[in-house]
Amino acid sequence: MSRRPELGPTSRRTERVRVVTTAQTQELDVQPTPLALLLLGREADPKSERGVECPGDLPSPSDPDLVERARAAKEKLGDKVFVLGHHYQRDEVIQFADVTGDSFKLARDAAARPEAEYIVFCGVHFMAESADILTSDDQKVVLPDLAAGCSMADMATAEQVAECWDVLTEAGIAEQVVPVSYMNSSADIKAFTGKHGGTICTSSNAQRALEWAFQQGEKVLFLPDQHLGRNTAVRDMGMSLDDCVVYNPHKPNGGLTAGELRAAKMILWRGHCSVHGRFGLDSVNEVRERIPGVNVLVHPECKHEVVAAADYVGSTEYIIKALEAAPAGSKWAVGTELNLVRRLANRFAPEGKEIVFLDKTVCFCSTMNRIDLPHLVWALESLAEGNLVNRIEVDKETEAFAKLALERMLALP
Ligand code: SF4
Repeated sequence: MSRRPELGPTSRRTERVRVVTTAQTQELDVQPTPLALLLLGREADPKSERGVECPGDLPSPSDPDLVERARAAKEKLGDKVFVLGHHYQRDEVIQFADVTGDSFKLARDAAARPEAEYIVFCGVHFMAESADILTSDDQKVVLPDLAAGCSMADMATAEQVAECWDVLTEAGIAEQVVPVSYMNSSADIKAFTGKHGGTICTSSNAQRALEWAFQQGEKVLFLPDQHLGRNTAVRDMGMSLDDCVVYNPHKPNGGLTAGELRAAKMILWRGHCSVHGRFGLDSVNEVRERIPGVNVLVHPECKHEVVAAADYVGSTEYIIKALEAAPAGSKWAVGTELNLVRRLANRFAPEGKEIVFLDKTVCFCSTMNRIDLPHLVWALESLAEGNLVNRIEVDKETEAFAKLALERMLALP
């Protein structure tokens, strides 16, 4: 588990962000339990993946000098700092990224820059943890706002997964089960996976990871994104929906009988991405009617019916490459995070490619959006003044097992 700083004063921007996450939470049909409060950002659970609020005095968002301040602090730090920008980050933040990419690519990019003492990760908490796991002990990973967690990663805690393993043991199948965990999970879940002979996967290599896992055992426990697990098993590997069961950590025994667990090939954790999980079949039908000839391109974190109705399905990197290769005059409706879709639409508009967001409702990743220019300026200026802030550090034992799972992924055929 990461060591985290003590709770600090509440960020002045918290209320605005809560409004967005409340809407998401209502959509998830979450009752006002302690877990719901976590999703709403009102409390911090030291055992969960998400971070805590950013301590300190943030610059005002209306400060006209923010861009110049970020530039000056970065220049002062020189090669000591390396800024990573996830594809879903805001433009105001991305402009200061030394490199952009998905979470795994960014962590590897950071490891390839050992001269950078500070890695400022403009992304979410689990990504910063992965960067800490893959970089050297001398490199310090900083998350500009510790409240930038990931609702999907939060849906599988270490305690819940340990309890699930007990359920599988009692059903007499634990020895046949190989855990496969999505990159979008906490360091604790990655460590659990490494400890139990499993591997990590990304949305690009999930099929290879599952094929490897089925060579090691008879069943897979897929964490924490049920949709990526189901889509890979059914769409890419020809399994049936009946081969999959969903383990609900909020129900006794996951809501499953021992017989159901024994019959299943894929045991899917009941987690999902609150951004990609929003897209529905109605969005696909509506856009096809509105834009004749449109190509529907979606991320595999979307629901199975959306993926089944789409023309193309792939990871964030796949989506970018597909649009790069698209012919002039082609039309695309893209089902992924809105910051990225807008950036791609602007980038490819001069080439005559029409790119629209799949849903009519605005849909940012609210936790990604917590990293804004004031938080980035605050982090860079603090580092430039010699103050290490918001460090994300994974303890050695967790790191060792998590690394084992990551290395198995790197060794996938
Ligand atoms: S887009 Fe989804 S998976 Fe990615 S950080 Fe946001 S909630 Fe998590």
